[in-house]
This record gives sequence, C-alpha cells and structure tokens, in this order.
Amino acid sequence: WFFDLQWEEVSIMDEKNIPIRTYQVCNVLEPNQNNWLRTDWIHRSGAQRVYVEVKFTLRDCNSLPGVTGTCKETFNLYYHESNEDRESYIKESSFIKVDTVAADESFTQVDVGDRIMKLNTEVRDVKVTTRKGFYLAFQDVGACIALVSVRVFYKTCPLTIRNLATFPDTVTGADTSSLVEVRGSCVNQSEEKEEPKMYCGADGEWLVPIGGCLCSPGYEDKGGVCKACSVGFYKAKSSDTGCSKCPPHSHSLRDGATVCDCHSGYFHADSDPPSMACTQPPSAPQQLISVVNETSVVLEWAPPRRLGGRSDTSYSLECLICQAGSHNRGAGKALPRNHSTPHMPPFQSYPIVSQLSLSISLSFPAPSPVSFIQATDVTRHSLSLSWQQPDRPNGVILEYEVKFYEKDQKERSYRIMRTFSRSVDVTGLNPLTVYVFHARARTAAGYGEFSGPFEFSTNSDPFPLIGDGVNSAFLLLSVSGVGILLLISAAVFIISRRRNKYSKTKQDSEEEKHLNPGVKIYVDPFTYEDPDQAIHEFAKEIDVSSIHIERVIGMGEFGEVCSGRLRVQGKREIYVAIKSLKAGYSDKQRRDFLSEASIMGQFDHPNIIRLEGVVTRCKPLMIVTEYMENGSLDAFLRKHDGQFTVIQLVGMLRGIASGMKYLSDMSYVHRDLAARNILVNSNLVCKVSDFGLSRVLEDDPEAAYTTRIPIRWTAPEAITYRKFTTASDVWSYGIVMWEVVSYGERPYWDMNNQDVIKAIEEGYRLPAPMDCPVVLHQLMLDCWERERAERPTFSQILNMLDKLIRNPGTLSSTVLESGVGSEVCVSVIPEWLQSIGLERYRDTLAAAGYTSLDSLLTLTHQEMDRLGIITPTHQDILIASVQQEMLSQMQHIQHTMVPV
Ligand code: AMP
Repeated sequence: WFFDLQWEEVSIMDEKNIPIRTYQVCNVLEPNQNNWLRTDWIHRSGAQRVYVEVKFTLRDCNSLPGVTGTCKETFNLYYHESNEDRESYIKESSFIKVDTVAADESFTQVDVGDRIMKLNTEVRDVKVTTRKGFYLAFQDVGACIALVSVRVFYKTCPLTIRNLATFPDTVTGADTSSLVEVRGSCVNQSEEKEEPKMYCGADGEWLVPIGGCLCSPGYEDKGGVCKACSVGFYKAKSSDTGCSKCPPHSHSLRDGATVCDCHSGYFHADSDPPSMACTQPPSAPQQLISVVNETSVVLEWAPPRRLGGRSDTSYSLECLICQAGSHNRGAGKALPRNHSTPHMPPFQSYPIVSQLSLSISLSFPAPSPVSFIQATDVTRHSLSLSWQQPDRPNGVILEYEVKFYEKDQKERSYRIMRTFSRSVDVTGLNPLTVYVFHARARTAAGYGEFSGPFEFSTNSDPFPLIGDGVNSAFLLLSVSGVGILLLISAAVFIISRRRNKYSKTKQDSEEEKHLNPGVKIYVDPFTYEDPDQAIHEFAKEIDVSSIHIERVIGMGEFGEVCSGRLRVQGKREIYVAIKSLKAGYSDKQRRDFLSEASIMGQFDHPNIIRLEGVVTRCKPLMIVTEYMENGSLDAFLRKHDGQFTVIQLVGMLRGIASGMKYLSDMSYVHRDLAARNILVNSNLVCKVSDFGLSRVLEDDPEAAYTTRIPIRWTAPEAITYRKFTTASDVWSYGIVMWEVVSYGERPYWDMNNQDVIKAIEEGYRLPAPMDCPVVLHQLMLDCWERERAERPTFSQILNMLDKLIRNPGTLSSTVLESGVGSEVCVSVIPEWLQSIGLERYRDTLAAAGYTSLDSLLTLTHQEMDRLGIITPTHQDILIASVQQEMLSQMQHIQHTMVPV
C-alpha cells in the first residue's frame, strides 16, 4: 500500500473484538481535499474482469459536530493497468475511475475505539485485459473514512463433467454479457459423439451444453463416469444406454464385455445382432413329398418341428447325382409347402442348419390326372364325392389327394384331404355354397397332376328368412315401426331445437359418446407412483445423438427452448423444438417438467402440439415436440396486426376449437387456454400447447389462488372456488377468440386483476374488437355466460365455426356498421339504465342528448369523463352493456332471418 500524508494506518477492533489494521482519513473541516491511497501491484492471473469488494466505515456528516459544507460522504475508486510490478510513482491522471462509492443502508456495527461505526460492503467490477496486472487506488475528497478490507477476486466456471465430457475450470469473459466457448474432453472409456461444447457465463455459471461423449463398448455411464459392464452383462456399441444382460443361452465371464459367448450347443449366425438369444440348429424339415415327371421334380415339405429358437428359417436344396448314367437333366424346383415361411437368405453358418435327404428316381412317370369327380350325396354341411382311377396310373396308386375351396374365395384358402380309396366325405361345409374340387393320385414316382375343377353346391337352410307370410308381416311391421320411430325422433329433434339453439349438437355429441363407449380418457401422470413409469408409458425415449440443437428460440419455465433437427432411423429428418430442464433441479421440478410430456404424449390430434419424445436417460432432460415456425399465437398476431381476412382468423379459431374438443372428449381440462399457449406453424395451423398449469394449481392451493391463476382468461367459478371444468375452458376459449379477433390485444387492457374480477362480477363483458363480425362476438358472449351450464360445448362451437366458414356472408356484418340497432332501439334508456343498476346517470345522459340506446353506442370514455361519469367500472359497464344489449337485439332479429 502507498498512501499520502493524509491517510493513516490505524489499529481498531473488528466485530469479534479482534484487532485489525485500517486506513483512515478524516479531513472534513478543510476544503479541497484530494488524498490518495493505492494498493501494491496485483497480478491479474489471466482474469479479464475483476471484482473489488471494499469494506469500510463512513461517518455521516451530520454526526460530526461543527462541520461545514466541506464534509463529504463518498470516496472514488480508481484502477491503473500496468506490466510493472513496482511502480513507485504513478500520476493521478494515469488512473481510470471505476466508480464513486457511497455508504448504503446495509450497515453492520463495528467498534472503532470509543464509537460504534457502521461497516459497509460494496462490490465493483472492472475489465482488466490490457496488461499483466493493475493497481487500485482510493481517492478521498473530504470524507471521514476507515477502509477496513479490500478483497480482489475474479470468477470462474468451476471444473465440471457434462454429457460425459470434462470442462476445465474456466475464467469468465471480460464483459458482463460475454460467453466463453469451452470445448470439453471425453472422460475415460468414452468416445466423442458430437463435439462437446459449453459456454461459461459472466457470473460463473455453465450454459447451453451441446454435443457430448458416449461410453465405449463394454462401458456404461454411472453418474458421469464410464464403468465396465459387470460379469453377465455386455454393451456392444458406444451409446448412451446401459449394459444389457446377456441374451438367453449366453454369458460373459469378465468385466467390460462387448459381446456375450453362447453356451455350448448354442450358436449365433453371423448376421445375428448381439442382443439376440443364441439358438440351436432346427430339426429336419418334415413330410418331404416329391412330384416327379420325366424331366423335373417338385418337392414339398412341412417346416421342422423344432425351429431352435429362430424365426428366420430358410430352406436350401442341393441336388446330387447318385448313379452314373441316370442324369438329372432338368433343374430341381423346390416349393416349401408352407408358403408363408419367410424366404431368408440361404444358410451361411453351419451350426444353425439341419438336413434331410431324399432320393428320387426319375426313371418312371407319375400317374395321369383324375379325369372325373361326382357328388354322391349332398346335405347343407357335407358332400360325398367319388372318382375313377386315372387313365394311366403308371404304377400302384398309393393315395389320392383332394383339394377344395369355396368358389368365391378362389384358391386364397383351400383344404386338402387324403384318402386311400376313391371316395371321400367332405364335412363342415357352409350351406348353400359352391365349392370347387380337384383330385390327384400318388404312386412311388410321386403325385400326378391335379384334375381340372369340379363344382358342387351344398344345400340351403331349411327355413328361408323371407318368403312366407308370417315373415313378410313381421318385416312390414318392422318397417312401419322404424318409420314411426323416425317420426318421433324428428318431432323430439324439432322441439328440442326450439328450446336451445345449441341443443342439437349437444345431443349429437352425447349420442356420439354413448355410441362410442371406448373413447380414450386422459390419464393423470401424477396417479403413477413412479413418474418414470408414466413417462415411459406415454412418451418415446429419444437417443440424444439423433437431436441436433441449432438455436435458442424462447424461454420456458424450466429453461431454454431451442429449435433443432431430429433424425430417427428410418424416418426423414424433421424440425423440432427442444425444451430442456436446466441443471440443479429438484425431484419435484423433474417430475413437473416430465409431466408435461406424459400429458402431451397421450394426445394425437392435428390441433394439439405433437410430442416426438423425451430424453431422460442422459442430462439435460429434454422434451422434443414438433417445431411451430410462427411461435406463439399472441406474438404472431401482434406482429401481423390487421393482415388476415376474417375467414383466416375464423380458420385459426376453428383449429383451436377442434383441439379443445378433442381434449374435452378425453376429459382433459386445460386450465390455461390463452393465445400465448397456442403455437402456430408455417401453414397457419394453430395447435394447443402448454400442459403444465393444471398441476401447479393443484400442488399449492394457497399460492395458486393468488399468483398462478391467469385471471383474465379464467371463468369466475374457477377463480372463486376453483371449479375448473371443460366449461371453464370454454370461457377461456371466448377470451382467446377476443385475442385473435383483436390481433393479440391484452384482454381488459391495463385494468388490474381486482378490477377485472369486479367488472365481470357486475356483468361487464369484453366488447367486440374492431371489425368483429357480430356472430363472433355473440359466440364470445355465449362462452362468457355466468352459468357454466349455459355456455356452449366445444363441439357446438366447432359446428358453429364450421357453419360460418361455409357461409362467409354471415361474417360480413360487423358490430359497428350494422344498422339494425336504430330500427329496434327506441328510447328505453331509463328502464335500461335501471336494469344495469346505473339509473343515477339518467338525467346526465338525457341532458347530453343521449335519448336512445343506439345513440349511446358512440359514448366514449373521454365523453363520459366530460359528463362526470368518472367511475371506471361504471364507464366500462355502460359501454359493454350498450353493446351487449344491441347485440342481443340484433341476434334476435338475425334468428328470424338467418338459421345460425
Ligand atoms: P413454453 O415453455 O411452452 O411456454 O415455451 C416458451 C416459448 O418457446 C414459447 O412462447 C414459444 O415462443 C417457444 N416454443 C415453445 N414450444 C415451441 C414449438 N414447439 N415450436 C416453436 N416455438 C416453441
């Protein structure tokens, strides 16, 4: 330390009564102070940004008796970069100012001689990149200071292992926003999968791990270290999976096995994967039969009795000439009898084959075909057949074979019967069915050819269904019965349609459910004791090597959301979004994070974000979903304000309604339906996403109530007594409609939550956004019915939107341009004001010339301020109620004109 004459080195006691040295200065009575104290040279040791923590006491000028305006309560911190470690004199002007330091409120008390003083701690940081080291200096300009300690340090991202790569202790960058890119090196017994990289952030935290290593064959990942597979286990490839148990009939006798050896008597074919069980040779094929004519042989056989544990049986045929002179001039043709046996490549390795040989003499021909078959007896279920011996038997006939099938079926499926005689009883046939028969004979030379087809029909059922009087009468009755039933249903349909404009579709959907009792129901993943079981039931595990992260696209609750590509073997590469769970998570956070995937994985619908899979076997955990190019709907609409046609907007709403109908059919209640939770792809298809909130609300009842409920989107019964149902999702859907039509405007603008709750309670509803078709606003108002049973179902909403899309004309009447109001709205102002509880403004409005409801449509907030209607809720209620009243009157008229 170097100090000028004004600074003094003094001993005092610290808070634990241990003596410490301080530097003090206290020239508060004299003007123009400029007293310097500087440190020795400090080596920067590779640091680029250093932090200076100063502990000091500073006396409050008011506490010093008799001081004048010369007293100061701050000092200045300077630095000077230098390669010289022993500069004895440094000019003041060579120092660069870091900051002016003042005492703050966070004092602790220190006993300074006879007084109690307050100890301040201040930290400043400064970039030091140009020289080997630096000096710090403290400039006093007339304060009463005791400098107790100065600690100089820099930050590093500590040595760490991520994705099996080691990242060294790394000094942070020079700027508070700089990221230092660091390459990791693979841990022992591992291999690089993709260059491991991470960024060291300015505050010493590692960020965005990319790439990583995989344990080598014979090794598996045990908490960031590659451990050898134990005896009885193996791992064939470098991958992120663990060691596997040796497959059946095999073993490994040492640690670190990359394959298992087969038990004796068992074998692996060259092409068998290491995970396949070792197998035994099959037994020989059975019932080898030959059909011989002078120059060729047809062989048929049945599969072996024992396949030895394999399913890839193939047959190989070798033709040997046994006697000189009896030449085999034609090629042997082999046909396995069981044609469905897979035709695998011929056997390659000796141990998995069996053999069967047959000697055939080609010296005499097989019998000629059977020339005639006749039916001797026919019933409903059987046929008795007989035939003559072939004209040329060419030897002793050993057996006849009869092949038959239903004529309609052709030869797709046939049956075979064998007999030693020239007749057979064929039973088990269908009544009134035509069958086709072929017969052939066998001698020692093999089978002869089949005869041509002979067709016979079985008898019909004894009691035909239609035809006699009783049955026709029954039929007539049934027909008229159906007619009456139809009439009754039509009547019921018409009546119920009159009662409720939504009841038709409601009935439809109930009927649908009734007819379809196997509707899939959503399973809450939290009902599983083991969250990993749920995730593996509903989500596919993705090998992290098939994911390529490209860039960060957003921030989710649990960490960054990135975009990238996913290539799964055998499928084309697709763009995906990847949410990852940032390091240092708790068990609960892991469970909550994965629960979203367990929920999403149960859905399969074009308007629900599709889960591609999860990565749970290595860190960080990831959820991979389809990529939605246009991001979230609210931001997307704000960016394209006013650029879509009404039909395009309704198309988006239709998509969301269709997704929500699917969710409600599965009995899933979303609870956080809002435009920000809808994602949009490049074709403007909207998909429902964000399946996180339902859980959060249940976990923490108190906190949830005040902080987590998205008030503006939530139905009143869900806010007040947490009645979350599909009907409360419908309310939120109405808000989403409003957000969409207003291109991402914030619902209830900047009203605060309490006012929103109050206004809704008092009957206020959001007015139609600019250019909003009347029918759409009416649909919104229906979604915001106070009684949840009165709100439409998603199926009804969907039907309604479909109708609108089919008849775009119904969308052309917007709220303000509609002229219907003036015809119907006569001066009903006093009664109407009374009905909304605001009759107090009757005279004010009348005096200002507002005598009819439609004249009130032009009422603005400014105008009301001017008239003295200043309570914001009253202003809101007035505007909304006028619109609502007008709309319901217009709707009334529309009902009589347009079938909505
Ligand atoms: P979340 O945690 O789901 O709210 O996601 C945070 C942000 O990341 C969203 O607001 C989107 O901007 C973006 N995002 C999430 N998922 C996707 C996706 N599948 N496609 C495109 N962007 C997404």
